[in-house]
Amino acid sequence: MTVFKNNGNDFSSYWWLALIAAVIFIGSAASPFVFSNNPQATAVFSVLLTFITTTASILATKYYAKMDYQNTLTRYGLQAWRNLDSLAIKVEKAINRDTIESFQLEEWLLDIDRAKLGWRDLLQELFALQERLEKESSEIAVRYQEQLKSASTPEEVNKIQKEREDALAEKSAKAPLPLRLPVSVPCPECGTEQTGLLGTNSADTGWILCVKCNVKFAVHRAIDGSVRVGGTLKGPKKDTPLTCPDCNYENSIDAKKTAGIILCDTCNTHILYSGSKGKFKVESLGVTNSEISCPYCNEKQQIWINPTREVAFLTSCKKCNLPVQISGSKDNIHTSKFEKVTSD
Ligand SMILES: [Zn+2]
Ligand SMILES: [Zn+2]
Ligand SMILES: [Zn+2]
Repeated sequence: MTVFKNNGNDFSSYWWLALIAAVIFIGSAASPFVFSNNPQATAVFSVLLTFITTTASILATKYYAKMDYQNTLTRYGLQAWRNLDSLAIKVEKAINRDTIESFQLEEWLLDIDRAKLGWRDLLQELFALQERLEKESSEIAVRYQEQLKSASTPEEVNKIQKEREDALAEKSAKAPLPLRLPVSVPCPECGTEQTGLLGTNSADTGWILCVKCNVKFAVHRAIDGSVRVGGTLKGPKKDTPLTCPDCNYENSIDAKKTAGIILCDTCNTHILYSGSKGKFKVESLGVTNSEISCPYCNEKQQIWINPTREVAFLTSCKKCNLPVQISGSKDNIHTSKFEKVTSD
């Protein structure tokens, strides 16, 4: 395909022609000396020949390494493009619809996950580096936080803040992705202190899920480096009670819903319900309802499959942590290794 023609590679092939021409030229220029049994000329000729063949092999290694890398990048890039394209089509179809069901969102997430996992595979060294730098940066932040607490004069505070910024900027410069650091702020809904990750650049935004009241809220990095708490993100209004048949905990569901499956907030069982407000018929379907074997390490594990429809999602093996693709229905479940990118 002409789309992937790379000018750099064309340029490299001119190098081959130039090198071959040089070998022939030097070879023929040096032959009279060789024939005349001149030991000096023979030495010069062999040094030149060694130099040229060494240069050629270095260039060849570089050329093939580059080609191989280019091909791998092209394959991963195409795979990611396909997943994103498929997602774009689904989003376009949904634009004119009034409601989006959660299974549709799950499907979209699957496309995103596939694209991300492919890249994570290719960039795993970079992600390991990112993880290490974020850990080191967190340690720096904690260390300076303690120093700031014991600072007694404004000058001292300024000095510590400056040192902290320099130390963090040094880590940030090495990181392949924007660095995020843990921040602790009070939840705007219930006031309890919650911790989440936030980028170090001004105007960065992060989302923290309050573990107490289950509300997601935004945190922003201000220009002076401080953290501001933003608005909350609330799901559909949940005001109809639904009692869990297993643990009797009173869960809340969307008032408009008359049937469906929810996860019990306390015991994690799946509750199947139908009927109307106040007189729901409920049944516990369990925390998990199916068993699969990991396609990589064969470890057996329990998972949850929605019994009311076809599913397709990614999960990770609890033992080997590798991504496992699940598809099918509860009675006909199919597991496979996460599709490695294959060349077309
Ligand atoms: Zn809260
Ligand atoms: Zn329960
Ligand atoms: Zn496994």
